[in-house]
Amino acid sequence: MNAKLAVNDEIVVASHNAGKVREIAELLTPYGIKTVSAADLSLHEPEETGLTFRENAELKAVAACRATGLIALSDDSGLEVEELGGEPGIYSARWAGENKDFSVAMEKVEKALQERKATSAAQRKANFICDLCIAWPDGQIKHYEGKVFGTLVWPPRGSFGFGYDPVFLPDGFEETFGEMDPVKKHNMSHRAVAFNLLVSDCFNSP
Ligand code: IMP
Repeated sequence: MNAKLAVNDEIVVASHNAGKVREIAELLTPYGIKTVSAADLSLHEPEETGLTFRENAELKAVAACRATGLIALSDDSGLEVEELGGEPGIYSARWAGENKDFSVAMEKVEKALQERKATSAAQRKANFICDLCIAWPDGQIKHYEGKVFGTLVWPPRGSFGFGYDPVFLPDGFEETFGEMDPVKKHNMSHRAVAFNLLVSDCFNSP
């Protein structure tokens, strides 16, 4: 039977990325789910050896589930830039270097676009993608994928969110994710799309 989530369940959010943990906790709180993060529990951060978002999400969720005996939820996500053949993709976090400095990562993306003389919006199309993976202690594993499409702006705008948010202008909006009220981002982001699929599948309708 498809495993379900219920009020007061405790979930370990299998991430050491404070921005992601915060967004996932904010998404789950209205459903009465308690969250603890892999970092709070000092869990070892598994190496992301997968070649797809799906593989990386699964290895993180399974590792956290095995280490804690709790239901584990992971998010593997990133930015795919059309003109760059989908890069940085699964390497989105790694483009920020050891110091996890996303101003460096955003500059790297911009430099690559400028080298290709990508100045028009049509040449600067990008999407965020998110694979959410939930692993239950009984071995069940489910995946939910979401995407949001937009264009990349330069210079970066706004200080909300995290990662590449200040350069991502979602289609149909005039604010980057870095300028947008986080509540608005939560309603439309790649993570929100994946999360809504998870909710329909994992929660019993009232
Ligand atoms: P990973 O899934 O831990 O490998 O890291 C994904 C990386 O993609 C993050 O560190 C961010 O740089 C980027 N990313 C994923 N989701 C978002 C988002 O909602 N806003 C901005 N950047 C994001």
